[in-house]
Amino acid sequence: MSGSMSSFLYLVASVCFILGLKGLSSAATSRSGNLYAIFGMAIAILTTLLSPAVSHFQYILLAIMIGGSIGTFVAKKIKMTSLPQLVAAFHSLVGLAAVLVAAAAFYSPQAFNIGTVQQIKAASLFEMSLGVIIGAITFTGSIVAFCKLQGLVSGKPLQFARQHTLNALLGASLVVLMLIFMVTQSIFIFWTMTVVSLILGFLLILPIGGADMPVVVSMLNSYSGWAAAGIGFTLNNHVLIIVGALVGASGAILSYIMCKGMNRSIINVILGGFGGDSSVVSADGDAKEMRPVKASSPEDAAYMMHNAQTIIIVPGYGMAVAQAQHALREMGDILKQSNVKVRYAIHPVAGRMPGHMNVLLAEANVDYDDVLELEDINSDFSATDVVFVIGANDITNPAAKTDKTSPIYGMPILDVENARTVFFVKRSLATGYAGVDNDLFYRDNTMMVLGDAKKVCDDIIKTLKGM
Ligand code: NDP
Repeated sequence: MSGSMSSFLYLVASVCFILGLKGLSSAATSRSGNLYAIFGMAIAILTTLLSPAVSHFQYILLAIMIGGSIGTFVAKKIKMTSLPQLVAAFHSLVGLAAVLVAAAAFYSPQAFNIGTVQQIKAASLFEMSLGVIIGAITFTGSIVAFCKLQGLVSGKPLQFARQHTLNALLGASLVVLMLIFMVTQSIFIFWTMTVVSLILGFLLILPIGGADMPVVVSMLNSYSGWAAAGIGFTLNNHVLIIVGALVGASGAILSYIMCKGMNRSIINVILGGFGGDSSVVSADGDAKEMRPVKASSPEDAAYMMHNAQTIIIVPGYGMAVAQAQHALREMGDILKQSNVKVRYAIHPVAGRMPGHMNVLLAEANVDYDDVLELEDINSDFSATDVVFVIGANDITNPAAKTDKTSPIYGMPILDVENARTVFFVKRSLATGYAGVDNDLFYRDNTMMVLGDAKKVCDDIIKTLKGM
């Protein structure tokens, strides 16, 4: 295939990726967005395979078969609730790929058309260094994010003395190492730079508290995009540069939007662990666990909701765990048939990934018009008869407004406490992801319906049908 033809096809692929991103910006168009992106990726892969530089198909096909089989297996096996950690794991692979491609280019520059050993072009050395640094930081940072999201490492902020000073020193040393590498082209400096970046990625993400993990995941997404763009420069591959920049920029914009949604400054999130004396949080939490709560039953909840005029349902991570969305939608539909006004309130960080609740509610065919974002519905809670909080916790926790020492302080919350009656459906009085006790459980207008979210919805449906 000629160079101009492949450039044209890469351009077509890039346009498909842009249309894909645009489609993903709304639930209604997300399917077509995905199809555009798949189509664009198919064009990009075929164009690369048909380029004159590719001569040995057998290794590529073998790699596609191995990678494709693993990908298919993982995609089929993964639970919806584990998608965020899967995304983090995939980001780590992009980071690792950036490091490996840079190493390959460094050891065999002639194969990449960037010079010969010890005679590599200055611009290529610069791109290579950036690829290695961003890639290695993304690699270890994403592994830590994976461990936190998977529960293998505590979601609470993990801090130690002088961590910011140490990170600043490591960052400064990377700049110096990069300059030395560009002058000397030394193998030792190349690998020292890689190791320092790996350590920095680990240290940067470790202290970040659970409530800020959504921003971290989208930030790592952005890093992985820039790392891919770096590889694109090394490989002189236009589509990789464009796609890397698209992912990098959209990840950065998403991080900004999420920071705004959570009332965080990006610097605070990156520096991590602010307000984070986690020992205070848990000690406090243990003490509050002893306080009395009002226990209720699915039957009581059904009765109250049947007699209400307005209901707002607040879904959270527990709904995803219990896969209660279909039962929840059925419950909402039955209530609507009794002329109850039923709406759903979505917090920007509910669940474990951006848009988690929207995806699940869309899967259960909940009407998009009934699903409202925090800023559109928050003022309505005070005029609402019943709020049905199902598997949500942190996103309703008033400590975010009142307790300056809390790790979630400053995050906007859904003001469910303002409603006449609040039902909390969860299995226990345990804390949510951020590890902060929720004072709402002990309020006079709160009823705790303890149990699995799906089972509770099924029981409510049974009672409603019998009314
Ligand atoms: P939380 O983690 O705060 O609370 C979820 C609650 O669901 C838990 O308290 C748990 O209580 C309950 N639960 C778990 N399983 C079940 C079940 N089977 N049936 C009923 N209840 C269940 O979730 P929220 O959605 O309120 O808040 C999201 C949190 O996750 C925030 O802190 C956010 O920052 C963080 N996060 C969000 C990401 C995102 O992108 N959206 C990414 C990473 C983190 P119990 O055990 O008692 O049942």
